[in-house]
Amino acid sequence: MKRIFGILIVITALLLPQAALAASNNVKLLNISIDKGKIQTDNNVQKVIIETTDLADFTIKENGNKLLVQLNNAKIGSTVKNMAVNTALIKDIKVDKITKTSTMVNIGLSKEISKVEYNVSTLPKNSKTKKGFCVVLTLQESNNKFLFSPNIKGKTIVIDPGHGGSDPGAIGPTGVQEKDVNFAVAKQVEKILKNAGANVILTRVADVDVARANASAAEELGARVNIAIKNNADIFVSIHSNSFGNESAQGTATYFYSKTDKDGYLANAIQKGMVEYGKRYDRGIIDTNFYVTKRSPMPAALTELAFLSNYNEESLLNSQDFQKNLAIGICKGINDYFLKFK
Ligand SMILES: [Zn+2]
Repeated sequence: MKRIFGILIVITALLLPQAALAASNNVKLLNISIDKGKIQTDNNVQKVIIETTDLADFTIKENGNKLLVQLNNAKIGSTVKNMAVNTALIKDIKVDKITKTSTMVNIGLSKEISKVEYNVSTLPKNSKTKKGFCVVLTLQESNNKFLFSPNIKGKTIVIDPGHGGSDPGAIGPTGVQEKDVNFAVAKQVEKILKNAGANVILTRVADVDVARANASAAEELGARVNIAIKNNADIFVSIHSNSFGNESAQGTATYFYSKTDKDGYLANAIQKGMVEYGKRYDRGIIDTNFYVTKRSPMPAALTELAFLSNYNEESLLNSQDFQKNLAIGICKGINDYFLKFK
């Protein structure tokens, strides 16, 4: 996630020069305020609003547990003071004069910047509301509450979004299709692991059959395993969603085939991660001879995220929040695996 916000900042910076040309050197920092955002998830959300008399030319830097907002053309107004904040995200805010015409707003965070995601936007000066130009930083506690081991760098991880193309997999009571849920979670897993430095390969990158439309199950599953073999993958993780005739069946499970001593470890680590972040009933790990876990020569696991046949879990499986939490859980399990087996 952090990288995305980094890009946002760069984009803002690229858009600014035009405005910066027009930015005067007579700008004053008027006010800094904290706005407790609406709680959208269980993460804390807070906004820091930096108001200046006119268009501010600013740059933002990260430093340990600080966010530094440099106002290149604004001096400190007489009413602006250092403030103690002491919330879950922000410790304090200090204002320093850098030169006669530039100011540093130093936002002290309550935790490392790696545990905080942030987004930057601006509001134009508004003569109606008598509000000045505002730089708005929206801070949110990161979902990635664990740090990746350096062992994961360079590992080849094949992620298999179950079903696709002519095969929808299970279909929930309101019509949510398994192939779509599996793919959404796989894409999130790919993003997180790539950010951690792993070489991630998806067996399908769109809603398609991997072998061919209406191929036999063995042919289709074999094509997925072949991708892992061809790429000399360190591990293979297949992502599925469960279904059962009785709609009360619920929870998360992970399957493996104990062809090596590592398969069970991988399945258990992924299962624990999914239950920790997805918070569904823990059905445990199951040793059985599914095609992909048995035929893949490298350690492999097959997840059953939750039950599409269960009305409540179908709705969860279709939500981006739940998909992301499961993806984080899977990544945590994969990280735990590579902590043990380098
Ligand atoms: Zn499936």
